Amino acid sequence: MHDLKHKCGVFGIFGIDEAAVLTTLGLHSLQHRGQEGAGIVSYDGKSFHSVRKEGLVGDNFDNAETLGKLPGRQAVGHVRYSTTGESRLENLQPLFANLAAGGFACSHNGNLTNTISLRKHLVQTGSIFQTTSDTEVILQLVARSDKQKTVDKLMDALSHIEGAYALIIMTNKKMIGVRDPFGIRPLVLGEKNGAYVLASETCALDIIGARYIRDVKNGEMVVVTNDGVESIQLFSQHKERPCIFERIYFARPDSIIDGQTVYAYRKNLGEQLAKENKIDADVIVPIPDSGVPAALGFAQQSGIPFELGIIRNHYIGRTFIEPSQSIRQFGVKLKHSVNRSAIKGQRVILIDDSLVRGTTANKVVRMIFEAGASEVHLGISSPPIKHPDFYGIDTPNYSELLAASHNLEEMTSVVGATSLFFLSLTGTYMAMGHPDRHEDVPQFTDHCFTGDYPVDARELMAEEVMKGVN
Ligand code: AMP
Repeated sequence: MHDLKHKCGVFGIFGIDEAAVLTTLGLHSLQHRGQEGAGIVSYDGKSFHSVRKEGLVGDNFDNAETLGKLPGRQAVGHVRYSTTGESRLENLQPLFANLAAGGFACSHNGNLTNTISLRKHLVQTGSIFQTTSDTEVILQLVARSDKQKTVDKLMDALSHIEGAYALIIMTNKKMIGVRDPFGIRPLVLGEKNGAYVLASETCALDIIGARYIRDVKNGEMVVVTNDGVESIQLFSQHKERPCIFERIYFARPDSIIDGQTVYAYRKNLGEQLAKENKIDADVIVPIPDSGVPAALGFAQQSGIPFELGIIRNHYIGRTFIEPSQSIRQFGVKLKHSVNRSAIKGQRVILIDDSLVRGTTANKVVRMIFEAGASEVHLGISSPPIKHPDFYGIDTPNYSELLAASHNLEEMTSVVGATSLFFLSLTGTYMAMGHPDRHEDVPQFTDHCFTGDYPVDARELMAEEVMKGVN
């Protein structure tokens, strides 16, 4: 079965001592992008070295023994998250292959949308796959390209693939970063003591004291060698359409996207939500941690006091990590507890950044009523998610997305709130500093709200439907 939906973090550094140690630090700061497993491939001038382990970076890489196995002045790393149950060790990245031209390590964040047919063709014509990851298709295409140079082979491979990707590739002489034609998944370029760094988010540059240079552009390939960085624009026909969910939910609040912290965008979303919804209440309570910046923005805009009415247990994983609905519900209980002193007798406005299945909201709303709140209004600082994602942020299929099959009244009843309100799409764009979404010139990849998929994802949609049937 094809391996769908992985949201991940990528990091690479070229030309510096203890590259694997710096990569470990980078992966630590990208841990929110994937907790299922992590991996690092390093190159020491003679050989490639690889360690990939299931679990958290801190539990597996922060020790002299592991880092001792990853010598060299260049390294590439990956944190992985998948939800298909295909959490096998061989699917962890970076993937590595010994190609005719030499070693080739590849870290991928995103989801390719045409790999089912590509893989079928490759298998029929003799390729042997070792993983169920869509990333291996890229390796196979590179291996089979009849071009001479690695960069040309890679360009050849990329001309066949479609979907969302931020890639970091490492060979014995190069580190290469690529973003898909729409720039759906993020990738930034930085520098530390003359060594170039590539990473999913700027927070990974900050942790190692690297300087941010710029974002890799949509459709751009950057090739880092001992001589510096070369930029090749592979696909130029598209306007950039970065994933709006990086700003709403996925990226770390201290990361900078398009000149502003993600925190600032999220506060703006909350402010905008308060402008659109005037509700009499005594207290604003965030669902931690995801709702905190938006709740602050909402409180500042509305003048209603902000209180930490829900306490989050930080020592368990994200709710989404559990594969089945029954266990997920239990996970939500473990994750949040109520702070009665802030809630009792109060009219509460509860704020979160998004509503996906409604599991979190339902649980937390009930908790707040049980703690003695007289009203619980639930405000979501983004529009209803009506369509699934196929580009790597892992939202579930239509049957599990609450807003795909319920109207506002029904959703309010499912989550058990006094009232439920969402931010408008226009308000969302305003909070992002782009007030002008037009049907023909959208600024973001926002299909979760609009159904406007920039890359044809029908192949994957069909597979989701098949899974639903099985
Ligand atoms: P749910 O409980 O299924 O409605 O999920 C909503 C919660 O999941 C919110 O607290 C969000 O912050 C969080 N969330 C939103 N999008 C995602 C995502 N793609 N992966 C994991 N969690 C998410």
